[in-house]
Amino acid sequence: MPPHHVYVHVPFCARRCSYCDFAIAVRSRVPADEYVTGIASELEIRALGTPPASVDTIYLGGGTPSRLGPDGVARLIEVVATRFPPAAEAEITLEANPDDIDAVSVATWRAAGVNRVSLGVQSFDDRALAWMHRTHDSRRVIAAADTLRAAGLENWSLDLIFALPASLERDWERDLDSAVALAPPHISLYGLTVEPHTPIARWRDRGASVEGTEDAYEAEYLCAHHELSGAGYVHYEVSNYGRSGRLSRHNRGYWTGASYVGLGPAAHGFDGTVRRWNEREYAAWLRILSTGVDPVSGSESLTAENRIAEEVYLGLRTSDGLPVRDEEREVIRPWIDAGWATLRGDRLCLSATGWLRLDTLATSLTTIRSR
Ligand code: SF4
Repeated sequence: MPPHHVYVHVPFCARRCSYCDFAIAVRSRVPADEYVTGIASELEIRALGTPPASVDTIYLGGGTPSRLGPDGVARLIEVVATRFPPAAEAEITLEANPDDIDAVSVATWRAAGVNRVSLGVQSFDDRALAWMHRTHDSRRVIAAADTLRAAGLENWSLDLIFALPASLERDWERDLDSAVALAPPHISLYGLTVEPHTPIARWRDRGASVEGTEDAYEAEYLCAHHELSGAGYVHYEVSNYGRSGRLSRHNRGYWTGASYVGLGPAAHGFDGTVRRWNEREYAAWLRILSTGVDPVSGSESLTAENRIAEEVYLGLRTSDGLPVRDEEREVIRPWIDAGWATLRGDRLCLSATGWLRLDTLATSLTTIRSR
């Protein structure tokens, strides 16, 4: 399957956020030239003489890709486009920290082809932001949103985290109101989870409270659904909301099983059959490339059962729903009766309450389909 989407992992961050277990490289000065040269090498090593293939989306994620600076981002897109030229109307997304947004940077990114920015906001509560070890405060977020709008960028997104510990006294409704007031065309929400080897895991091990309760998680998830749907956003995937015409095309590729290429340390790729992932550490990724070797660190072919599980899980997580079969009617009936799902034609679509229980239904349907 030719790739339709490219993900580029840019690992640099100013420091590690308290909840983050991503593959990052903490750097006060970002080695943009070294990194972009590494991506050029990876493209060359993995191209194997095949001709360039145009793609529908390019997503620069991280880490904090905006830390490459205006010229670093422009050079990165130029290098990626030599092998994967963006199609006309392609979506090119840059994940950005509010600290890195200024008029010159946004103008340079736009000139380089970036037409979507995903802003890591997480909260408008300065106390919560300090607890998360974020480098920005709420004032910077508002200034960044103003700059994006002033630059005429019509497609941008904002991330928020919910289910913070009650001890922080974070007002979730007020954060949602603050987000809506900035009028982002897209909003992504993430529930806080404690991952091993993160600062908050260490705080928890010392006995500090670092997570909201399950009830609080559910209440905040449903509160967001109510508030954002009421404000005109389409809740089109478990964690994502968008205005009409502003849904993430790159992520939709993942959710529909499309093939994609992953470049950079820790990046994953999928060719329709085999999933592969790169060496996770930046220095090791660079070292392997310097020897002219593909930096792949592992791969797996999807088994028939993996495919079924993915098809079910991915289908249920979007508002398009999953086509269901006659033999599944008995299992889905209680979900419909409880208001956790509806049938649209032959497609089963979960409600927000149903999405909170997605794993249970996905397991049941996978079991039936795997018999
Ligand atoms: S900015 Fe993002 S990738 Fe970097 S440490 Fe924070 S959460 Fe992790």
